[in-house]
Amino acid sequence: MTDILAPTPEAITEAARHILDGGLVAFPTETVYGLGADATNDEAVAAVFAAKGRPAFNPLIVHFAEAAGVADVATLDGPAAELAGAFWPGALTLVLPRRDPCPVSLLASAGLDTIAVRVPHHRAAHDLLAAAGCPVAAPSANPSGRVSPTTAAHVAEALGAAVRVIIDGGPCRVGLESTVIELTGTIPRLLRPGGIPAEDIEAVVGPLARPDPGAAPASPGMGTRHYAPGRPLRMNAASAGAGEALLAFGPDAPEGAPNLSPTGNLEEAAANFFAMIRALDTPDNRGIAVMPIPDSGLGRAINDRLRRAASA
Ligand code: AMP
Ligand code: MG
Repeated sequence: MTDILAPTPEAITEAARHILDGGLVAFPTETVYGLGADATNDEAVAAVFAAKGRPAFNPLIVHFAEAAGVADVATLDGPAAELAGAFWPGALTLVLPRRDPCPVSLLASAGLDTIAVRVPHHRAAHDLLAAAGCPVAAPSANPSGRVSPTTAAHVAEALGAAVRVIIDGGPCRVGLESTVIELTGTIPRLLRPGGIPAEDIEAVVGPLARPDPGAAPASPGMGTRHYAPGRPLRMNAASAGAGEALLAFGPDAPEGAPNLSPTGNLEEAAANFFAMIRALDTPDNRGIAVMPIPDSGLGRAINDRLRRAASA
């Protein structure tokens, strides 16, 4: 049963508790409704991907009640700090270098050493984020491939079974996703046009690098770099070859090897995936051999990422 609750103080407290327990809560922002989870909880973040049925891991935007919270997870200085000062709270997402160490799940960053952060401009979102007190990873609250939801009813209709609580804040004011700007290179780069026009952003930080207009059509995830391990990766491996490290999966795995999920649970495997690959991606290993992962549920997203890495 999904509870659709008006954003009363009681409902906000209940929703925040649910997030801190590792659950999923849909909540309104000024852009679109988000499907939120505790960003520091690997399994909660994996549950977000499972609920959306995404066939691939795209990095998620991590939300904060106040800009000050961002400093715990990312480096916010220079042009990034100027943009935050000019547009937060608001429909602007900044892709920044992750702090090292960073309390946010590596799965929320899809294995990258960057993190997308935003402070939404919405009373209920603010109150929920403040009550939870943790960074909240929240992609749009729609199944993969469907349009983003701008009312609580849209969320209930498409994702109801996956969320226990939907905070109903009425229709979203902006109704478009946030503008995404990457600030990890020398020139700020537009990754996704959205609620704040690029011209307004350029008025603050000067010309933006933009995606090549002749490139593939704009889509979510456009311009996103993918994490690839530095070592060769082999899929569907029964065992490790000479010099290779084995990344195991399931109960029939050799003892001692890191195991994505000893019980064969794909959500657990997704939660562990990027952190375990990174731990094995060291010069001591000549390669990484990964045992077969079933191609269903989150296994499809894991295999998608493995295939890209194996062919890199
Ligand atoms: P959504 O899941 O609909 O909220 O969209 C999130 C957007 O932010 C997608 O376009 C992602 O590709 C982008 N994004 C999130 N994190 C990063 C990151 N670390 N690097 C680049 N793009 C990101
Ligand atoms: Mg989306």
